[in-house]
Amino acid sequence: MRKVYLILILNILFSESVLSDRYTTYDELEAKINQWDADFGQNEDPYPMINGEGIIFHHEIIGYSGVDNLPIWAIKLSFNANLDEDEPKVLILGQCHAEEIYGVEIAVELIEWLLYPTNPGNSMYFQSLMSVMSQSEIWVVPTHNPEGLNVVHGWYDDFNVWHQDESFRKNKYDANQNGLFDYFYGIGDDVDGVDLNRNYDFNWVFGDQFLETDTGCSANPAYLSNYDYYRGPEPFSEAEIQTIKNFALNNNFLLSIAYHSSRSGCVAEKVIYPWLWQGGKGSPDLGIISRLGDEIALKIPTWDGLGFYYSANSMSRRGNAHDWLYSQTGCIQYLIEVGTSDMQSNDVGLIEDTIDNNMKGLLHLLKRAAGSSIQNGPDPYQITGLVTDPDGNPLSAEVTILELDGPMLKPRLTDSFGRYRRLLIEGTYTLEVEAHGYEPYLSSFVATSSVLNHDVVLNPLQEFNVEFDISVPEGLDIEESPIFKLKNNNILVDSLVVNNEGESFTMNLYEGMHELSLTSNNIFPEMINLDVLSDTTIQIDLKWKGIVLNDDFSSLDNWTNSGGWVLNQYDGEQYLSSQNSPYYNNERYDVLETVGSFSNTYNSSNKYALSLKMKKELEWENDYFGIYLSCDNCDNNMINVTGIDWKNFQDYYFSLDVNSNPSNLSFLFYSDETLNYRGLQIKNCEVLFKPDGECNKGDLNLDGLFNILDIVDMVNIIFETVDSNGIRGCVSDMNSNDLVNVNDIVILIEKILN
Ligand SMILES: [Zn+2]
Repeated sequence: MRKVYLILILNILFSESVLSDRYTTYDELEAKINQWDADFGQNEDPYPMINGEGIIFHHEIIGYSGVDNLPIWAIKLSFNANLDEDEPKVLILGQCHAEEIYGVEIAVELIEWLLYPTNPGNSMYFQSLMSVMSQSEIWVVPTHNPEGLNVVHGWYDDFNVWHQDESFRKNKYDANQNGLFDYFYGIGDDVDGVDLNRNYDFNWVFGDQFLETDTGCSANPAYLSNYDYYRGPEPFSEAEIQTIKNFALNNNFLLSIAYHSSRSGCVAEKVIYPWLWQGGKGSPDLGIISRLGDEIALKIPTWDGLGFYYSANSMSRRGNAHDWLYSQTGCIQYLIEVGTSDMQSNDVGLIEDTIDNNMKGLLHLLKRAAGSSIQNGPDPYQITGLVTDPDGNPLSAEVTILELDGPMLKPRLTDSFGRYRRLLIEGTYTLEVEAHGYEPYLSSFVATSSVLNHDVVLNPLQEFNVEFDISVPEGLDIEESPIFKLKNNNILVDSLVVNNEGESFTMNLYEGMHELSLTSNNIFPEMINLDVLSDTTIQIDLKWKGIVLNDDFSSLDNWTNSGGWVLNQYDGEQYLSSQNSPYYNNERYDVLETVGSFSNTYNSSNKYALSLKMKKELEWENDYFGIYLSCDNCDNNMINVTGIDWKNFQDYYFSLDVNSNPSNLSFLFYSDETLNYRGLQIKNCEVLFKPDGECNKGDLNLDGLFNILDIVDMVNIIFETVDSNGIRGCVSDMNSNDLVNVNDIVILIEKILN
């Protein structure tokens, strides 16, 4: 008993870690945070030489690690850190990959510089430190992989045995679901864990699958780190990355750095930024992003003192933080690979130099965000302003700089102050500001090397009363009630379920274009572009859908295939796919066209629609799914579908305006020279028309044809062996006398023979 006690004490005194104790463990980090909080969390005059700085330190837990439930801490440093002020925000992510521990040290160093600006090591930057503290809010997350950090620094198990894998990369996700933490000492081959910089939901699909082996890199082909880049079971599966995602979505960060290190040395001492993909496809802000990336790199000396870090475009697409953060939140993030392949050196002098060198690049980025050029800082080049209504109330508005926009970017919105901020370089730009219910604002401006203030007041649009009178076909089942959706600029304004008896209601709508849709399983989908100019009444008579073509892709017999298109199966369901392989090929032009031509005359209004149950993943505005309904003597306009919406099969409705009877339907898949995605999966396709009467009488089996099968169905209805509610009640009652009997069969036979 006494012996065990003695061993425990010895273990506390002598850590068995192979790493230098200069590196901060997770426990030491928490102790530091507690100490900073004790010294600064309530301190309203932390800088004796400065007036009015208020509290400069705030800390909070923003989430927990997925397996060990360890807190993920965020530290906010700013004048009045206890308040949410109208200032640009910066996000510094310290360590992400477990073994890349310089990130923790740089994060700690930054916090200490800002808390102790007159310390001898950093007092020469005093003016810079004060400018970023007074003009911005700096958020530091020293580690968002705390459980991985503990693996790297080592731990005692329940039997007091020391474990340590200082080359562990991932978190501790139980990938093989065996209830144990399976790691392999040394580089790679760890079965458990997710690469946290592959788990973001932007190009996630291209990341490594479970137990995927490494193929090395050209600069160091011998370095093989198997299983180390596992993307996780699904996008945002990891608690650590959900934490960063939510934190980023709740804060309009302007700039960010994510710290890494390169054990392979393949990307050591580099500043990497989003993005330049294959085919010269750069991010919309690339000119601005690369300028700052170059500047930051040239501030950071390499370890040998012979040069500076290299800056490089991010070329890969695989669920990383910087691409997600930039595309989805507008925050420009730089990934900095700190140090060389000797990334856990025990040479304390080298550690200190590496940290100090990196602080120069970090300080440059902080000043860029704050709009400060003090002490040889960057040219501020920035536009900012408040978007308000005429009474000065802040508005949630979409702010676009047309020259810096792209289809893969989520709209950039103003923050809770109504503030927008965009980094720029020299040039002439067009600012567009839009908010629902207000006149859009457009203005051209020339960027200056300072911070350009440009407030925008939006004028409200006039409102009108619009009455909607919606009638539904007789016998509509409550489950088939149409969904009424009203959109403005693609943003949902209102949606409701229409009563199965029909509906009449009034809405106040702003002047201008609105998109209205009314859809349900068995009614003809109505898609209406509504230009609201005055008080008005909109009459919509919904009808049962008439069917020209109904295909569930049990075969491709109804289609002529120029190539590429295939039928695939997943989970027992069959669907049409744009290709056989996981991703489509580049430079495709493949047509799938219905065999023969549609023969019947359907209606007089020429109102047609296409309904598809579909998943799509197409390179934004470069690769397309073209839909084409050909008809005689009319303009055959192609509908082009692009972009990404892959999570679930969704119902898509397209209005097909033709001025004569359509003859056939074509699907076209076309892609450009670079970048391929998962393409299309289509479960069901219907070409529909709006019948002149209540329904298309006689097409009992809803296949678009009048034939013996419809007669068989009608006989079954008469003998009550099949259901005759809803749409079937209408199509079977040929003489509209609310009865289905032999008279209806006679009329149907005449119709077939004609
Ligand atoms: Zn890394």
